[in-house]
Amino acid sequence: MPNRKEVTDEKIIALFVDAHLSLRNVAKLVGLSHGAIRKRLIKRGIVPMEYENVVVECGFCGRELRRQRSKVRAQKDQYCNKECASAKMTKQHGKTWAVNRLARAVVSQHYKLLPENVVAYKNKNAKDNSLQNLIVFNNEEEYKIYLSTGVPDPIWPTGR
Ligand SMILES: [Zn+2]
Repeated sequence: MPNRKEVTDEKIIALFVDAHLSLRNVAKLVGLSHGAIRKRLIKRGIVPMEYENVVVECGFCGRELRRQRSKVRAQKDQYCNKECASAKMTKQHGKTWAVNRLARAVVSQHYKLLPENVVAYKNKNAKDNSLQNLIVFNNEEEYKIYLSTGVPDPIWPTGR
């Protein structure tokens, strides 16, 4: 068991906030009581009760999701929905935009897509490949920023 002097607040915060462990588990890991952990977190401005739910990013599109800590602990990769989960799987298997093929084909008739461009669904429904539902971003990074902040505007179509 580690010497309690070696257990820094940073370590406790990392386990509780970043690794999403419960107070009880943090206590067990570092060899302090669960009350002591709570006290040290509160001292650093972290109120354990406010951490019932945590904000994680969708493992595919990067959108922020609120999930229960216990769910995040059980499964590190969280997704918005089945579409994002399967898109991630597709990507991992090397066919990055296979799920997006139809959307790209539709847009390609109106706009010259570059390979790094991302075609997204305005109404977030990946089954709706109608032209007015499709928007284009320069690349995945800009798309992720758009998902969390609403900017930048899509590069296509403009003025919509
Ligand atoms: Zn997602």
